[in-house]
Amino acid sequence: MTKIGLEIHCQLTKLESKLFCNCKADYRNLPTNQNICPVCVGLPGSLPMLNKKAVEKAALISLALGCKIPSKIGFFRKNYFYPDLPKNFQITQYNAYGDTSIGYDGKIEIEGKEIRIRRIQLEEDPGRLVYEGSSQQTMITLVDYNRAGTPLVEIVTEPDFETPKQVRVFLNVLADLVENIGVSDPYLEGALRVDGNISIGDGNRVEIKNVGSFRDIEKALHFEITRQQSLLDRNISIHAETRHWDDARKITVSSRSKEEEQDYRYLPEADIPIVLIENNTVTSLSKQMPESIVAKKERYVKKYGIPLQVANVLSSDKFYSDMFEKAHTQNNAKEVANIITTDLMGFADTREKKLELKVTPKHISDLADAIINNKLTRNSGKTALQEMIKTGKYLKEIMSTLDLGQVNDASSIEQVILEVFSEEEKAVSEAKQNPDTINYLVGKVMRKTKGKADPTITLEIIRRKLLS
Ligand SMILES: [Zn+2]
Repeated sequence: MTKIGLEIHCQLTKLESKLFCNCKADYRNLPTNQNICPVCVGLPGSLPMLNKKAVEKAALISLALGCKIPSKIGFFRKNYFYPDLPKNFQITQYNAYGDTSIGYDGKIEIEGKEIRIRRIQLEEDPGRLVYEGSSQQTMITLVDYNRAGTPLVEIVTEPDFETPKQVRVFLNVLADLVENIGVSDPYLEGALRVDGNISIGDGNRVEIKNVGSFRDIEKALHFEITRQQSLLDRNISIHAETRHWDDARKITVSSRSKEEEQDYRYLPEADIPIVLIENNTVTSLSKQMPESIVAKKERYVKKYGIPLQVANVLSSDKFYSDMFEKAHTQNNAKEVANIITTDLMGFADTREKKLELKVTPKHISDLADAIINNKLTRNSGKTALQEMIKTGKYLKEIMSTLDLGQVNDASSIEQVILEVFSEEEKAVSEAKQNPDTINYLVGKVMRKTKGKADPTITLEIIRRKLLS
């Protein structure tokens, strides 16, 4: 069995200043090594000052992911030596000496599967290393400390994912969520970064780092499943190690044996006092929270009678659930949900495609109304939607140019049925014996009317004729 866990680093890009100093949190597009001060580069004698807003934003993320928030939090020094870390320690959070991080024991449901959140912690981002070319081949590494000290929230999940696809769905939901609660713009370069750890069967856990995008983490996990499986098939054991995603070659490569927790020698950060989080702070933060995905799903099922499966898919996707909210009325909600999840989502499933989509809530609402009021069959509805996607035209225009209106005048349907009956004598006598084959005849009528005949009336007339 494949087990995948994630560590996601989410920058709090909506903040003005860094986590422990007054340098800008938005380090992007600034001249190299200009957005720094003695605190964020850790000069001797400098003292960190905790950004209160960062604690609130991290608490918001914790609440959104169903985590518990402790009544006090502390900070720790995580010691390691690396060029992106000028202090040689990172100020982060850790569960020890009676302290916990800002959030713990959460859970979130993704397409009916529960993903447990182990821990959410607030920490500072290190500087940025820039390799010239592939990290495996380059001799030159540049370092820019503008990012050092940027507020970062680390979200650690339990190893509850079974497939790379579940990981992608989760990450899309998470990106929507942090955007929705106003803590981060997940689409800024480097704002949301993911490390994965993956094990197969009884094999050791392998960590994948350095993955630049959501699409790449899915690819990297697929690559690892294949690599680990082929080792296991040959009875070769899997090393516990950290592997880097080599974007140029689209493979993971071994980088170093994985540090154990004790290698980091966590020490309480004595320069930052323990922070108390009052109950009423949590209560007032809770009030800022938009509706959760689970609550949204339940509303879809209860208020509109949307089937659970459809509600699951729709509520997990912010773009499409926003479209649903704008397009539906109490009357057409079920049909709107149906059109979005069965036809539209399959067409535009990536952020790029969604942004290019010419279909607006009005398009979908018009379409659903026409189907409900028998002006259009579901079949013709699909054709109309394809035309909307292609041209952005509204339904009225499409119906007249493509001649899609539903035929529900019984005598013209009967005319077509008579034609079909004379062409399909064998099928007609078969249907008289075995009513299960009647759909074949309905299909013929639909083909002749290009899917426009009202299916209920068609079926009714065919049944009556078969009896006579
Ligand atoms: Zn600074």
